[in-house]
Amino acid sequence: MNQHVSLGRVVILGGGPAGLYLAILIKKRCPETEVTVYERNPRGSTFGWGVVFSGRTMQHLEAADPESYAVLKGIMRTWENVDVVHRNETISIWGNRFSGVARIGMLKVLQGRCEDLGVELVFNKELKGLDELPSHDLLVAADGVNSLVRSTCPDAFSPELGGGKNFYIWYGTHHIFDGLTLTFRQDQHGVYAAHSYMFSEDTSTFIVEVEPETFEKAGFGAMSEPEARAHLEQVFAPDLCGHSLMSNASRWIQFRVVKNQNWVDGKRVLVGDAAHTAHFSIGSGTKLALEDCIALDRSLATHSTLDAALAHYESTRKPIIDDFQALSGTSRAWFEDLHPLMQMEPIELAYSAMTRSGRIDDTVLEGRDADFVAAYRHWLARA
Ligand SMILES: Cc1cc2nc3c(=O)[nH]c(=O)nc-3n(C[C@H](O)[C@H](O)[C@H](O)COP(=O)(O)OP(=O)(O)OC[C@H]3O[C@@H](n4cnc5c(N)ncnc54)[C@H](O)[C@@H]3O)c2cc1C
Repeated sequence: MNQHVSLGRVVILGGGPAGLYLAILIKKRCPETEVTVYERNPRGSTFGWGVVFSGRTMQHLEAADPESYAVLKGIMRTWENVDVVHRNETISIWGNRFSGVARIGMLKVLQGRCEDLGVELVFNKELKGLDELPSHDLLVAADGVNSLVRSTCPDAFSPELGGGKNFYIWYGTHHIFDGLTLTFRQDQHGVYAAHSYMFSEDTSTFIVEVEPETFEKAGFGAMSEPEARAHLEQVFAPDLCGHSLMSNASRWIQFRVVKNQNWVDGKRVLVGDAAHTAHFSIGSGTKLALEDCIALDRSLATHSTLDAALAHYESTRKPIIDDFQALSGTSRAWFEDLHPLMQMEPIELAYSAMTRSGRIDDTVLEGRDADFVAAYRHWLARA
């Protein structure tokens, strides 16, 4: 018996990771369905530098679409260590498998796979209203944190929007951070935290965040972007080892919290950042966006009506995201109170960083790196 929802035309708004990945999954399973993705940016342009995935996410991507996984794997860098740098000391914690990839590289792989499968990709097309869309059986809002679909139907989705306290800015650098590195530096203006990781053989992501007081005292609000970059290059000079920071439309922003009470409105459904955000300190926004698509496609594949499939997607996926957003909030709060952390010894700070969201407890940590836990306990006994 044919169990899956039969769809004539699927329209996806947004050609980011979520929109492209969902297009792949639907088109591959139902080649007869017309799938169109609308993207406002030209092909090949994107914000930011690299994204990072855990080993578990890589397994999900392999199971969902082995073809794109194989190509992605070939352009990724993989490592096992988290490094915490404080007071010029680096503490490495092993057993944490991550892979980094350039966002642009990942989008190119997904675009190529879409086109091989026969998905229609429409670039340079910014939708101003939903009435510009052609008729469709399903509209997927994959249009990111400022979703047009969500803001067009606020009563249906009941969004809850909030903001992070810290300011952050996203750079690249040719210094290779061999591992997921958290670096803490201090000057007369306050504390600076950098999140960095390599994502290709010669480039790393380098995200800096500061508390509002530091932002104010350093005068970042009045500085041009090149001035801010020069200031940060000086603060992180010991870590950048002579390399500069590179801008890609980089600017100071504050984290945007997005939650929605409902993810479905008739034949409209939210995925990825349009539905929810997760703080970059848990490096999970893209992972969650791609896993939403896997969940939505599975719901479409196992239900015979669209209503039932979308209800199943929302009721099974949303609780998982709610849990992740709780972790993300705890992790964000840890970075929003940097001054007390600077009083800690390096190993104490490293332990606090690893356990900050509550996702990793002592047992998990010991399973990953028993030497680190032993060194921490040894320090604790003597403190
Ligand atoms: C500093 C920072 C670091 C991050 N690091 C990581 C990380 O290491 N790992 C990780 O997993 N995630 C990371 N993320 C999160 C990640 O970037 C997002 O969660 C992810 O991009 C969400 O994918 P998406 O497809 O839902 O949305 P987006 O990537 O935002 O894509 C939405 C697309 O829709 C298009 N669009 C929007 N409106 C319209 C319109 N009206 N018409 C046409 N097109 C439109 C946009 O141009 C865009 O291409 C980070 C985020 C930030 C801010």
